[in-house]
Amino acid sequence: MLFKHNFTPHNSPIWNNRYILMNRKSIFIQDWLSKGVWAIAHFVDEEGHVLGHQDFCQKFNIQCSKSKFNRVIKSIPLSLKNIVVNDIIYSDISPKLRQLYIDGIRFCDVKCNNKFLRSSLRSLYSPNLLRRNYILKDFQREEIEKIRTDYITFPIPPKGKEVQFKILNKIYPTNRLLSDRFKIETGNCVFCETEEEDLDHLFFLCNFIQIFWLDFHTWLYSSGIQITPFTLNMIMFGVFLKEKKANYGVSVLLILCKQFIHKCRFFKIKPTLAYWKNDLNLLVKSLTLVQKKKAVFFCFLYGRF
Ligand SMILES: [Zn+2]
Repeated sequence: MLFKHNFTPHNSPIWNNRYILMNRKSIFIQDWLSKGVWAIAHFVDEEGHVLGHQDFCQKFNIQCSKSKFNRVIKSIPLSLKNIVVNDIIYSDISPKLRQLYIDGIRFCDVKCNNKFLRSSLRSLYSPNLLRRNYILKDFQREEIEKIRTDYITFPIPPKGKEVQFKILNKIYPTNRLLSDRFKIETGNCVFCETEEEDLDHLFFLCNFIQIFWLDFHTWLYSSGIQITPFTLNMIMFGVFLKEKKANYGVSVLLILCKQFIHKCRFFKIKPTLAYWKNDLNLLVKSLTLVQKKKAVFFCFLYGRF
């Protein structure tokens, strides 16, 4: 990062430079630095010619072997040498060792502490890290606690809980997240194939998903559960219905729906309510064999749908 924010060929030190390598390692000669040698321009005369061994030693009062001098000269890439030579011939500027900056802050400044470096590196390499707190803005503290913990005890497969966890923490690997964070080339949404696939699109905004949620809503309504039309927040975080039993039933079903969308995405098939109900029936069949209170309760509720 230091290199990226501060590189100019003319003022670049040759010591510890990633492009000036000898046996694939950067070089540093303390003795030469103490005599004022640190830039490519120091190896070149006013007309742009590379100094000979003797002239160089005389100019800087350095004693070194000819082979060592030649090895250093050889390690400077030709392209870099040419840029500096052109600078010397046409603009007559002399190199100045510059202060190093990161994001406009001097590297030696007290403000350039670990916290600052961490956030700079993070925004450079992982601009879309976890946003655990993105749910905080729309909910009260008690609601957030319920959103974060209730689903863990639901009688649903671990995959459903995993999908919900990833949605809550915005780490569900959508195409958008994969390309933002890992620079992986990804395609559009697998369902509509036209729009970019981010979290909101995949689980709510996509036309095919909207149809699925609409069918699901109609099915709930016909089963006697009166619920307002779904919003993005309801789908992502769950519902808070006044009637406790309905709230529990719908909350469990919503996560099963999201697990189903996840499954359809994996198999690249469009989600339909009929297909989802098949999956649900199979789950309820196995849940009836479980003697756990929550499973029994859910099966009882399911009987009422
Ligand atoms: Zn789509």
